[in-house]
Amino acid sequence: MDKIQKDNRQWKEELDPEVYSVTRERGTEAPFSGKYYKHKESGNYVCSNCGLELFSSKAKYDSGSGWPSFDDPVAKDNVDLVPDYSHGMSRMEVVCAKCDAHLGHVFDDGPQDTTGKRYCINSCSLDFKKENK
Ligand code: FE
Repeated sequence: MDKIQKDNRQWKEELDPEVYSVTRERGTEAPFSGKYYKHKESGNYVCSNCGLELFSSKAKYDSGSGWPSFDDPVAKDNVDLVPDYSHGMSRMEVVCAKCDAHLGHVFDDGPQDTTGKRYCINSCSLDFKKENK
């Protein structure tokens, strides 16, 4: 996938401060605070920075974590996984494949009847596009 080339100064001008701090400074929004953690409409979640489709509402489930949780991305190529050893933990970071926005992390405690994965994603990293009927 062709990457969007923008430096952080440009992103800072375009994004609102909370979105910037999560997606460009790898922040984490407080659990149970984000606008999508309880969101249940049908449609697609896209990258809040570049609009790339990331997750379908069909893959969303309630993990109880307080962050939007998905068991699969819309396409494997739309997210990149990056080993993350920050904060004394060993985790797999999930970033947008097109613009490198920090999205969240993926864990292996997802639903056993599907992929077993839990993509734990910040609401700030997402925008929602309602399904066209
Ligand atoms: Fe993006």
